Amino acid sequence: MGIAIALAGNPNSGKTTLFNVLTGARQHVGNYPGVTVEKKQGRCVSGSDEFHVVDLPGTYSLSAYSLEEVVARDFIVKEQPAMVVNIVDASNLERNLYLTLQFMEMGISVCIALNMMDVAKKRGIDIDIAKLSSLLGLPVVPMVARTGKGRDDLLKIVADHAKTRTRSLKISYGRDIDEALDEMVEKISSEHFLTDRYLPRWVALKYLENDVQILEMGKEQNPQMDTWLSSVTRKLTHHLDTTLDTHPEGMIADQRYGFITSILKQGVMTCTRDKNRIETSDKIDKIVTHRFLGPMLMVAVLMGLYQFTFAYSAVPVGWCEGFFGWLAGRVDGLLSDGLLKSLVISGIIDGVGGVLGFVPLIMFMFLGISFLEDTGYLARMAFMLDRIFRLFGLHGASVMAFIVSGGIAGGCAVPGVMAARTLKSPKERLATLLTVPFMNCGAKLPVYALLVAAFFSENQARVMFIITLISWVGALLVAKLLRSTVIQGPATPFVMELPPYRLPTFKGLAIHTWERTWQYIKKAGTVILGISIILWAMMTFPRLDTAITADPAQVGTQQAAARQTDEEKVDQASAALRHSIAGRMGTAMEPVTRLAGFDWQTNIALVGGFAAKEVVVSTLGTAYSLGDVDPEDAGSLSERLQSAPGWGPITAFSLILFTIFYSPCFVAVVCIAKEAGSWKWGAFSMAFNTLLALGVSIAFFQTATWIMS
Ligand code: GDP
Ligand code: MG
Repeated sequence: MGIAIALAGNPNSGKTTLFNVLTGARQHVGNYPGVTVEKKQGRCVSGSDEFHVVDLPGTYSLSAYSLEEVVARDFIVKEQPAMVVNIVDASNLERNLYLTLQFMEMGISVCIALNMMDVAKKRGIDIDIAKLSSLLGLPVVPMVARTGKGRDDLLKIVADHAKTRTRSLKISYGRDIDEALDEMVEKISSEHFLTDRYLPRWVALKYLENDVQILEMGKEQNPQMDTWLSSVTRKLTHHLDTTLDTHPEGMIADQRYGFITSILKQGVMTCTRDKNRIETSDKIDKIVTHRFLGPMLMVAVLMGLYQFTFAYSAVPVGWCEGFFGWLAGRVDGLLSDGLLKSLVISGIIDGVGGVLGFVPLIMFMFLGISFLEDTGYLARMAFMLDRIFRLFGLHGASVMAFIVSGGIAGGCAVPGVMAARTLKSPKERLATLLTVPFMNCGAKLPVYALLVAAFFSENQARVMFIITLISWVGALLVAKLLRSTVIQGPATPFVMELPPYRLPTFKGLAIHTWERTWQYIKKAGTVILGISIILWAMMTFPRLDTAITADPAQVGTQQAAARQTDEEKVDQASAALRHSIAGRMGTAMEPVTRLAGFDWQTNIALVGGFAAKEVVVSTLGTAYSLGDVDPEDAGSLSERLQSAPGWGPITAFSLILFTIFYSPCFVAVVCIAKEAGSWKWGAFSMAFNTLLALGVSIAFFQTATWIMS
């Protein structure tokens, strides 16, 4: 029977010519069953190998729009040829590769016969075959079908590779579509929906593309699943329409071309002549991803983003702080002194309020980032950073994971860890998983904002930029360290989507900003509220059992309380806090943490941060407010810190450093363990990161105090 191969490619790419070159006279012309599409089959012998060749109809895509496309893909799925030989016109690479990607997404074994090399050469197009092959992960054979050049090479490659399946390609289709795809794939896999023939991700994509054939098959096999998938598609379609003014199919095509653009840009194709065919996006990219101008522009964009965020959010952040201060004052007047009042003011209002107070800042940051993402600039940043990432044993696809985790500021390590799924090499993936928590997620942002506002108010944007830089440098160095010790292994080639630039709509930006902000608010209202209350309890119990305690209610009479001086009250509050579980823990750690400039109250906050980083701010708030004499004129937390003993720019920066590097929050640790496939790595990231943070902070604090003294 021989090795079955199918020739596929765009019309006029030279399929028939190649077919004739391969099969010579031994061919048979018929029709595909039931349709009037011509089917040519033939035999071909080379050395000891025998091949059975079928010439598929020429197509530009694999949708279900034309009969040719359906015939081509049905043949591949039903007949399962050992290999698809994809004939690609070298003089028209960009357009031809679009079909190639779709074969790869089907997860079938593909090789490229790069035809018309003579035409390409005449037009001054130079193609780096080895690079193209390594970036796509496919064998590529240069050919001139008309003269038969490359025939034997092709047959040899087919004989060698026919049995090895190409790893199915996973293109990223942008955040919105990727999320929907993940959700769909999970259910498709668990329901075995059409999976006897197709890959789950391919089925999901076809639903998003509204593929009539698949929709029909789906409805027949499992109407319930069909309804569910259609509703996910509808929701996504509506969402894309309102946010980006596009639809899934358009977006999918854009990202596929973006993937190809990115391949060709990495030196695969150089055009020595024919330079007038550069489109607008390409023109913009010439400057934006320029070797020198690109990085400079990137720094400027980031500085601009921080300036924008801090400058414009200061006023509304002030309003929020004012509101919660006012609220605490009202509650103070309404409730009588006692545990309940302490819980409401110190536990709930200071805790949740401390986090919610930063909503405007988060919102401005997300607005800026949504703008960068929706225009397509974020993808260019990742593209540029890829070169640097390789040096440190990471992968270009790690960049997106880093940015999602808060590489610019204001992400979250949990989706960042998930984003690392796109990495194929397990070692690069693990290195990414373990280093994304160093990025500045939305929860760390309030910690920085608080400390920067209190101690570096003159240079907020600049300090924020330095923080970002430190977290990246730290992450890259740790990655390098891990990749040259515990997770050694070679680098894999990489392609990243470079979609065309878009002008974002105001409505789209507003929706994307709100979606992310709402996540933050929701978390404050649920997880953070719970942790705040637990921490409050830890900071309150066991209570001091003397006649006079921090809680004036126990004194018995108002007069007795009034007789105390304010100073005495603060001292007692401080003593009560020290006596509590949290206080004892904080105090026990002080001998070590003092080297980094942290007192026992800060330690309490940092312990809270193991659960969720937002809690650092709220716990500092609680720790420094428990002793407040009068919540109404206590001033904001940043003012309180400014006047607190032991606090200054050096302590503040030491705390910032610690916050950048120490253990990921609990949810992130769970995700890392799950994605890495072992609790060992979750525990590793907690222990390693915390020790690293402690080392960095102590080194900084000791050096800085020594220089200043
Ligand atoms: P199909 O539509 O994919 O089957 O393409 P054909 O095999 O019919 O080829 C289209 C045209 O391209 C024909 O005129 C071929 O002679 C020509 N052609 C095919 N391969 C080559 C090649 O490698 N170099 C050049 N210069 N022309 C080619
Ligand atoms: Mg033909």
